[in-house]
Amino acid sequence: MKFDIITLFPEMFSAIKEEGVIARAMKKSLISIKTWQLRDFSSNKYKNVDEKPYGGGAGMVIQVKPIRDCISKIKQSSPNTRVIYLSPQGKKLEQKLVEELATLESITMLCGRYEGIDERVIENDIDFEISIGDYVISGGELAAMVVIDAISRRLPGVLGNEVSLKDSFTDNLLDCPHYTRPEVIDGQTVPEVLLSGNQAKINAWRKEQSIKKTKQKRPDLLVK
Ligand code: SAM
Repeated sequence: MKFDIITLFPEMFSAIKEEGVIARAMKKSLISIKTWQLRDFSSNKYKNVDEKPYGGGAGMVIQVKPIRDCISKIKQSSPNTRVIYLSPQGKKLEQKLVEELATLESITMLCGRYEGIDERVIENDIDFEISIGDYVISGGELAAMVVIDAISRRLPGVLGNEVSLKDSFTDNLLDCPHYTRPEVIDGQTVPEVLLSGNQAKINAWRKEQSIKKTKQKRPDLLVK
């Protein structure tokens, strides 16, 4: 999977490029992440890419031309890339959407800042918008990293033993409880079945617990 990221803050992506699951997936060439500094597509000597909004009001708006030129450049090497704008107004990111995105070969993500981007980009240059939730954050970079991480976990070879197949939201259930050593701590014990060595019983218990947890915490998932 190839990720191209259009951003004013490419350094932020070192958070996932240098540590953990994503860094390992990059080393194994299972994914690539290329950041594009939007200011490199500015046509003025100050490298500005934002302007005051027409109609007045607070904040700045990112202009069409640098974004359009950057997307064109990316499409020279990835003509079939899907262009996503991270936006609080987009389709909410859920596991089902993650699974769909994980089937794509190339994704370009545009990270907004300030008041956002000129609406004409959304009308003309974007395939769709994705939101990470009903709240507003200061820029699309954190949202893009969430999307990259969620997709990458679902790509073959990124996690060992297909661990993510048991994650929450698979089959509309939350994950079962997990325990590790020691067996007893401050009087709290590990459920006996997990020590039984009987894998069939353990699997049945885990499934039962997943259903129980989902009923308790997210009953809405069971009616999906
Ligand atoms: N004025 C915009 C609005 O109310 O719809 C919010 C702009 S926000 C301060 C700046 C940028 O952060 C947005 O352009 C978008 O890229 C990103 N952003 C903010 N909240 C987001 C969310 N929930 N999901 C994805 N991206 C978000």
